[in-house]
Amino acid sequence: MAGGSERLRRRWLGAAAGAAGRGLAAWGVARRRRAIPRPLPEGPRERIVVLGAGFAGVAFMDALWEALGPQPRIDLRLIDRNNFKLFTPLLYQVATGLVSPDNISYPVRRRTRRRGARFQESLVQGIDLEARRVLTDDGPVPYDTLVVALGSVTNFFGMQDVARHALTLKTLGDGITVRNRLIDAFEEADVTTDPERRRALLTFNIVGAGATGVELATAIDNLINLVLLRDYPGINAEEVRIRLIEALDRAVPEMSEGVCRFTAKRLAERHIELRLGDPVVGLEGDRLRTRSGNLLPPGTTIWTAGVRANPVARGLPVEHGQGGRVVVTDTLQLPGHPEVFCVGDNALITDPATGRPVPPNAPAAIQMAQATARNVARRLRGEPLQPFRYHFKGELLSLGRNHAVLHLGGLLLDGFPAWVVWRAFYLTELMGMENRVGVMADWAFAYLSRLRESGRLICEPALAEEEGVMPTLAGRMR
Ligand SMILES: Cc1cc2nc3c(=O)[nH]c(=O)nc-3n(C[C@H](O)[C@H](O)[C@H](O)COP(=O)(O)OP(=O)(O)OC[C@H]3O[C@@H](n4cnc5c(N)ncnc54)[C@H](O)[C@@H]3O)c2cc1C
Repeated sequence: MAGGSERLRRRWLGAAAGAAGRGLAAWGVARRRRAIPRPLPEGPRERIVVLGAGFAGVAFMDALWEALGPQPRIDLRLIDRNNFKLFTPLLYQVATGLVSPDNISYPVRRRTRRRGARFQESLVQGIDLEARRVLTDDGPVPYDTLVVALGSVTNFFGMQDVARHALTLKTLGDGITVRNRLIDAFEEADVTTDPERRRALLTFNIVGAGATGVELATAIDNLINLVLLRDYPGINAEEVRIRLIEALDRAVPEMSEGVCRFTAKRLAERHIELRLGDPVVGLEGDRLRTRSGNLLPPGTTIWTAGVRANPVARGLPVEHGQGGRVVVTDTLQLPGHPEVFCVGDNALITDPATGRPVPPNAPAAIQMAQATARNVARRLRGEPLQPFRYHFKGELLSLGRNHAVLHLGGLLLDGFPAWVVWRAFYLTELMGMENRVGVMADWAFAYLSRLRESGRLICEPALAEEEGVMPTLAGRMR
């Protein structure tokens, strides 16, 4: 009986996801119809190696398939340290218990199999440009064409104390750790008899009020106000403090004026304290020190203040720009090494339309990867390459339950309509129907019951190791 209703639920969710997808397709989000690829001229088999199975790496593989079709002349290999692609835009929802970690992770082998490519799970340690081989923990991998799409890492701006003690939000593990710490803080605050300790436990300092910091802060606010304060009746809303600290003079400085305005208004409505124009210079115990000399009250620090290029890309003997990103040609190649392309967060290229660097975000990574795939196909055909052009697609920012802000062309929309667009858009951007249905189900449960029950789970890897079981199976409900 239970199995039957589960099947019915899944079928209903599948149908609903399909309808949402079709609706958005009609809206213009549908994939382009694939033209029949022209055959490649005869020649030796080309070994194309792609480093990183993130937004850029996977988009490259898909676009190369579109450009060439099933191709005996190429040997395509995708290398990543993880065998899944992480959908980072929803990572803050893992950190706040809204979605399950599985639902934002897509098994890459499923896609490589369909694209006639090979996946290799290895840690990339370096690139030998002269010998044309990639150095990995599983041995060297030779290439004829290389695509470097290793993304970025958290930038602590040289502050070792911050790197050691602050929480970050970059990997799936980070998302789970933040969720554990938020719930653990409430558990401990509920029983401690020390008022200072209790105040510190209920204070959350998020450093970096860019899009990630703002989305995380508003989601933490929702988690606390809609769920935790009800679960912990001994804790009052007035005791909890969420603070966003930004070095520049406005929230979401990477976004347009209108989006910044709506964001500041929403943060004020939610009593999220916004400290602007005073960069953090260190972390002393659990207290942040700012450039003006302020020592902020103690709390949990979550660092979302910026990224820099992946260490492997930073280690390449070429010119590097802001954040160690590799300065590439207008065709996204390494100067002096036309067989190496660098795309996504680890590449630096100026957008001629604005005179500013192309931003390190998912649409830019995907566009660079697609342009590179078309250029790799041209190279194999002996045709001239075309320069990369970045197309700005608009801005979308979630501001908590029922609130978002959307900036598209001349349209600036906030509140519930923007939130609906936000959810529909990210649902279609997720890879794989199973993940879409999973996220839809998570959202539906969270919307109706305030939080998925498993969002309250604390997963304890240390305990798991002691007991000799898989960490993911060792979570326990509290
Ligand atoms: C929390 C968060 C939220 C975000 N939200 C948004 C958003 O809402 N919208 C948006 O546009 N952008 C967002 N971004 C930015 C977006 O995720 C990046 O711009 C995008 O992922 C860049 O794509 P990429 O392919 O260059 O790198 P990634 O997608 O990061 O892929 C890099 C891949 O390389 C692999 N890798 C790294 N080092 C090694 C190594 N040494 N060996 C083997 N494999 C390695 C990684 O495992 C990863 O799979 C967000 C980022 C974060 C962290």
